Amino acid sequence: MKPNIGPKILWSELLPHEFRARLAACPTVYLPLGICEPHGQVSAFGLDTFKAEWLCIEAARRTGGIVAPSMGYHIHETGYHARWLEEEVGENDPLLTGIPPGVMIHFFLYQLRSFVNAGFRTIVVVSGHSGGNQADLRQAAAVFMEYVPVTVWVRSDPELVDGLYTGDHAGKYELSQQMYLRPDLVDMEARVWENVPGCGGKMALGDDADEATPKLGESIMNACLDRLCAAVCSLNKAGDPEPIPPLTYGTIEEIWRRVLSGSDTWVTALPWPDQKPVSSHSRWKTYEYYRAES
Ligand SMILES: [Zn+2]
Repeated sequence: MKPNIGPKILWSELLPHEFRARLAACPTVYLPLGICEPHGQVSAFGLDTFKAEWLCIEAARRTGGIVAPSMGYHIHETGYHARWLEEEVGENDPLLTGIPPGVMIHFFLYQLRSFVNAGFRTIVVVSGHSGGNQADLRQAAAVFMEYVPVTVWVRSDPELVDGLYTGDHAGKYELSQQMYLRPDLVDMEARVWENVPGCGGKMALGDDADEATPKLGESIMNACLDRLCAAVCSLNKAGDPEPIPPLTYGTIEEIWRRVLSGSDTWVTALPWPDQKPVSSHSRWKTYEYYRAES
């Protein structure tokens, strides 16, 4: 189901006077984060982005605020992703819009700068790409908040429904979400490609994908949305936001250096403790232990 947008809430669609009015009413910005990655032969690559966009748009309709341009590139390949790719995709190219953790987090700080300079005081980041990346973004956000008096709140969609549903990759959970949000982008009959040589096999399809239904997707997405809106309402502060001097590149680079000094603790830089090592012949071996350039 495509979002029914109603009043304009996308930053990219607003005229300056419309932007000012929405900002004055609620100084909250939503940033949808996603990626193109394989979700089986049966589903379109942008599932993670569509989830995040829908949640941000629907939440802004309910709570106010403005939705920033989506970020469709995200952390992949490094750390725990490497063995996962070897097992779930193999040595074929997975057709990812993946970027290294250091590039993502550095750029993220500049996204935050844009939001603060535009006048936002609450920044809500929703990642449809889950795993460990949201923890690394929270670590960067925590440093940012030491320098700048705003709230930066980062969650992935499975975190929003923790205790209600368990997230997965291209299984019952995620394919249900896609069947609800974009039924035009799911074709279960495309599983025939799994057996065609040279077409990538299962392309990371979850084992329980056949149990996915649009009805379950609707329940999951609405539960995510309810939790998101409840959290945002508690973040939004009443009253006029205090003025903040424009953030310069210099300030962001200073914050970045601080964030970078903690890069040995980034979740996306390392395998999970219980993961098998990446095979020495695998194309993913080189990404298993990531070191950010300083
Ligand atoms: Zn996904």
